[in-house]
This record gives sequence, C-alpha cells and structure tokens, in this order.
Amino acid sequence: MPEPIMHSKVFQCSKAHRWLNCFLSAKFNEQPGNSDNPRTLFGTESHSIGAALILESLNLKDYEETKSSSELIKEATMYDDEMKEITEGYASFVVGIYEAEKRRIGHDPFITVEQHLDLDIDEDAGGTMDCGIIAGDTLIVIDLKTGFTPVSSGPTENSPFNEQLGLYGYGFYQTYKDIYSEIKKVRLVIYQPTCKNTNEFETTVDEIIKFRNELIMPAVKKINELSDEANPGDYCRYCPINARCSKRAEILKVVESKKDKTLLSNEEIEAILPKLDEIIDYVTDLRDYCLKKAISGHKWSGYKLVVSKVSRKISDEKAVIKICEQEGVDPYANKKLAGITELTKRLGKDKFKEKINPYITIQEGSYVLVPNSDSREEINVNKEEKNNEV
Ligand code: SF4
Repeated sequence: MPEPIMHSKVFQCSKAHRWLNCFLSAKFNEQPGNSDNPRTLFGTESHSIGAALILESLNLKDYEETKSSSELIKEATMYDDEMKEITEGYASFVVGIYEAEKRRIGHDPFITVEQHLDLDIDEDAGGTMDCGIIAGDTLIVIDLKTGFTPVSSGPTENSPFNEQLGLYGYGFYQTYKDIYSEIKKVRLVIYQPTCKNTNEFETTVDEIIKFRNELIMPAVKKINELSDEANPGDYCRYCPINARCSKRAEILKVVESKKDKTLLSNEEIEAILPKLDEIIDYVTDLRDYCLKKAISGHKWSGYKLVVSKVSRKISDEKAVIKICEQEGVDPYANKKLAGITELTKRLGKDKFKEKINPYITIQEGSYVLVPNSDSREEINVNKEEKNNEV
C-alpha cells in the first residue's frame, strides 16, 4: 500500500470557504473540530466504498493495491440502506459522466478517484479530490457530499465558484497539464443525493488560475502573517473555536434592547429576524461547549452537573423475550403504523399520493417563518388570529 501523503491542515481544501472568508479560523484548522461527529465517519466510509465501486464498474480496480468494495462494506461500521443508495448512486453518476465523455471524444477519458493533489499555494498544501476526469479539452472535478445542507458548485459571496472545488480543479490541472495539454474548460460538479442536490458549474482554466492568483494567494499571505481578521458566516458552525470566538459572540448584540423601552417594536424585531438562526446556532454551540467541558471536569462558577433524566434500556432483548414467553406474557409492543417517509418508500410516490394523501393533514403549529426569497408558497392566516396581537 502506498504511504498516505500528509498535507498541511491550515489550507485544507475542504475548509477553503471558511479560511478564505475568515482568516482567524485558519489558525485553528489544526484542531480536530467536529471529527467525532458520526456523520463524518459516515461520509468517510461512503467515499471509500463509492470510489471502489467506480473503479470496479470501469474495470480499473487494482485488487493487489486497494480493497474491493465488498471488503470495504464488510469493514464499514455505518453501512446501511442509506449508504448503499448513496455509494451506488454516486458510482453510476460518475460512470454516466465518464461514458458520455468517452462518446464525445471517441476514446477512454482519464479518470482518478480519491487522489491526493499537491497545491503550490503553501508548503505541504493539498487535498484529496473525490473524482477527476480529463476528456480532451475538458477537466471535470466531481465531489460527493453526504451532508444535508445543500452545497452549490457555483459562485459564493466572494468567489466565482465553490472554493473547495476550485482548488481541486487547480491542483488537478497543475498535476496533469503537461500530459494533457489541450485542457481549456473546467466542470465543477457536486453530487449530493442526501438532499437531491446535484449541480454543476462550468468555468475555464484561465479563471481557475486567476482564482488561485487573485483570491487564494492574497488570503494565504494574510493567514501566514497571522492575521486576526474574523468574519462570521454560515461556516462558523464547523469552526473548531465556534463557541469561544468573541467575534462570533458579537451576534448577541443584535438583541440588546434600548434602556428607555419596555417592548421591542415590530421594526426592531424585523431587524433581529434575519439573524435568529445564527443566534440559535451560536448559543447551541456555546451550551454544548460548556457541557462538554463540565463533563471533562471543568467547574463553571455557579453551575453544577446533574443527570438530566434517567433513561432505562434493555441490554439483552433476546433474554427478556424468553423470560416473558416463559411467564406467558406477550413481550412485543402493539403494531404501530409506519411513518410517512417509510410508507412513501413502501408504496411508491404515486400510489402514496393517490391513496394516502387524502388522509394527511398539516398539524397545527407546524408553521415556520422564512424570508420572502424562500420558494415555498405563502399561507394566509385568518384575520381574527392576525388581530389578536398583544
Ligand atoms: S467562529 Fe466564525 S468568526 Fe470565529 S474564527 Fe471561526 S469562522 Fe471565524
């Protein structure tokens, strides 16, 4: 097995959106962050299995060097129906692109999976690209996402395209440009089946190089000068210092009411509304941090650690079933109707819509306030309710 290549953790491609927008966060990229999140392990295992499936489908697998998909599935701790669907879907999506490109150029394209790419932006900088294809004048970067927040391959607030994919595109081009000298176009593709979000952005090699020179390099320079410039954003949730960052804590200032008032006006509430999710995320992270630290022995002044509620669990179900049966008691719970998602899966969308939809009601209280830009249709509340304001 080849030795894994160790890359600088400061300029990780996967965290590029964060460090490009918040230089302070880069100082803490070496810290573990959310790596103990079970979903992170789910993602890692999905990527390995998906990569093996791609190579097997294209008969490119070197079984002496790498493990087969069935070996990886056997070793995986989180393999389930969801992972099966994700990995098989990812493999056929990639093979579909490969075959389409093959037809377009009239011969086999070059394909690589889970490839470490060196980046000439800083010493040891680099990252692992999920899948890359080179077909004639086109270089394609495909990224599998297993999270539930939709990710776009296109422009972000400060970048002409997804920063992580842009860096892979740059590293991929640099690695192979001398062998495949025709490359002009770059396709950045996100495959995210967890929220039915597959999207693609097309750009050029010139734009990718400009992105490296005009956006990445100035940021790398600032970070290497230990800039403390902090700029909170949606990426704070995954930052290793997300609970202690004083810049992020400034979000709470938005709810400071003026001393000479007892009630907030509607206008003041409207000023707070767009920040509510950020505030909730921040206080949740802060509360989790305090609890974690208390569990590891820290004593917060004025607070103590207690058991929230005692939960009892059967440790050996088979033994309990046997005892109940010996006692002539039915050990099983009553049959319960499966949930809406499960029933849709069992019946199929069309049959569910036709036969079950008439029995589905929206429960009281399941409303949510969203900005006007949200694509959902607005509902009308009745006037009586509307006029019942305090
Ligand atoms: S919590 Fe947010 S603002 Fe603070 S360093 Fe991290 S990314 Fe930057």
